[in-house]
Amino acid sequence: MASDQMQPGVGYGAELVGLSVLAEGPFTGRPPSVATVRVPLERVRSGPLGARLDVRVRRPGQEEARPVSLSLDGALWGIDDVPPSEDLEALLADSRFLAQHVYGVASDTLQEFERTMGRRLSWASGHRLQIDAYAPVDFRETGYDPVSKAIRFGHRADPRAPRHVPMALYRDLVAHEVTHAILDGYRPRWADAKALLDGFALHEAIADLTAMLSVFSSAGRVEQMLSAAGPKAGRDIDEKILRSGLFGLADGLFSRGAVRRPLDRSVPLEWQLDPEPHARGEVVVQAVLNTVLSLWKQRLDYPGGRASRYQIAESGARVGQQVLRMVLRSLAYLPPVDPTWTDLLRAILASDLVMMPEDAPPRPAFGADGHAKGYRETLRDAFWDIDLSTDPDARLDGLDNLEGLRYPVRLSALASDPEEVNRFIWANPRLMRAMDLDEEAGVRVERVRPTVRVAPDGFVVSEICASFVQEVTLTRREARDRLGLRTEAEYITVRGGATLRFDEGGRLCFAALKPVMDAQRQRERAETAHAEREAGGGAPAGFHTSGEREDPAGS
Ligand SMILES: [Zn+2]
Repeated sequence: MASDQMQPGVGYGAELVGLSVLAEGPFTGRPPSVATVRVPLERVRSGPLGARLDVRVRRPGQEEARPVSLSLDGALWGIDDVPPSEDLEALLADSRFLAQHVYGVASDTLQEFERTMGRRLSWASGHRLQIDAYAPVDFRETGYDPVSKAIRFGHRADPRAPRHVPMALYRDLVAHEVTHAILDGYRPRWADAKALLDGFALHEAIADLTAMLSVFSSAGRVEQMLSAAGPKAGRDIDEKILRSGLFGLADGLFSRGAVRRPLDRSVPLEWQLDPEPHARGEVVVQAVLNTVLSLWKQRLDYPGGRASRYQIAESGARVGQQVLRMVLRSLAYLPPVDPTWTDLLRAILASDLVMMPEDAPPRPAFGADGHAKGYRETLRDAFWDIDLSTDPDARLDGLDNLEGLRYPVRLSALASDPEEVNRFIWANPRLMRAMDLDEEAGVRVERVRPTVRVAPDGFVVSEICASFVQEVTLTRREARDRLGLRTEAEYITVRGGATLRFDEGGRLCFAALKPVMDAQRQRERAETAHAEREAGGGAPAGFHTSGEREDPAGS
């Protein structure tokens, strides 16, 4: 209940408040399926406007957004949870619920990233992300705009509804677009004008996984899907029903749209060369969902695993959340430029290894089981099926040629001061050679942050994560002589970068390197960029082209 007694206190920073949001969208039965997200309590002004989010809601038929209060009695520290109307027409016209839903899902998505990565994440746009929950635009114009760095959601007519449906009522769509905003703030070079298509495809894959697995984490919705798919629970639950629970959900979600292909298809040959970022991302999404599916089945095989349909749904939701966290944790292990799928696989495995040294199966409490596979092994298998593999666990840290580095640095400064990272790089010619840095050009240390995460054993894993980028501008002749690059332009800029992680003692414990003046890497990169330009005009201007989102499946 809203009240001024909820003043900021000692424990305020960790206080959470439960908010009802639509579990999937407005068309999941009457009353619609609802999920409760627990979001950080903060001072929220009418808008709703908080520390990180600026949500604007226009009422249907009006030109301008009008501020909406989330508190029933106007108390600034109060966020009141109001359930959605059971009546569809009333729900579609309810701007207060729309505001609560969008604020709740966006806040929950940001929190999931921050909690998993153990640090705050900033937006590319400044300290608040602007979300137009009901913009006066067609539903095809919905999305995160990489130029304005804001999100807007359109609306559309739907034969099932008496009035226009705001796109923002689809939970997956909100989570998907907020993920684009988070990734763009975190690693702007993954999808900028010079990025390769894999960077854009990585954005789509992470955004889709966040969207799907956040809907999937609501056990009630999974149970609803399972009961729609099969008449009986218990022993009749077979592969087909499991698949319909996860892949059926994924196919029906709005952020994918009907133009996307069903997820449980066979993997196309040479999918990594597909000129369309969504098509590439989809294959990786499929591999991750297959991981969830196979871990889910393992959990069901334990005694009592199939006791009820709810139990089955709950197991799936749990595994889904675990796997999503593995994926999100990996972001801090990816290089700041030119991430590839192999980098992603390696990053997921390496970050999980730090948290969980032992690769335990989903329910280890029942003792040794010869057939049970751990999370990492299952993930490796699923990626193997899409032709992606990486080093064994012992060599995932990327430190092969980086033993015996010097540390003329102060640990306290290393955790907070980019210049200390610069000194570390300069003091280690071996690292500079591994990166093929140009000694004369500047290095930009973008970010250095301590990260703190609690491992399942209750101990805190505390590390320092730093990333740097170097851009070198060469004349046509230098490009040819030093890198073997042929270009028509008078000047050409090449870039590379690295993510470095230091352990509690300040020692380098992980490195993801994209060398700068490495002739082979830059030549291959230039060839890929050239092929992408020929095939589809190069890097897309945004994440979603107009008209890409057609009607959701089944509507
Ligand atoms: Zn997208």
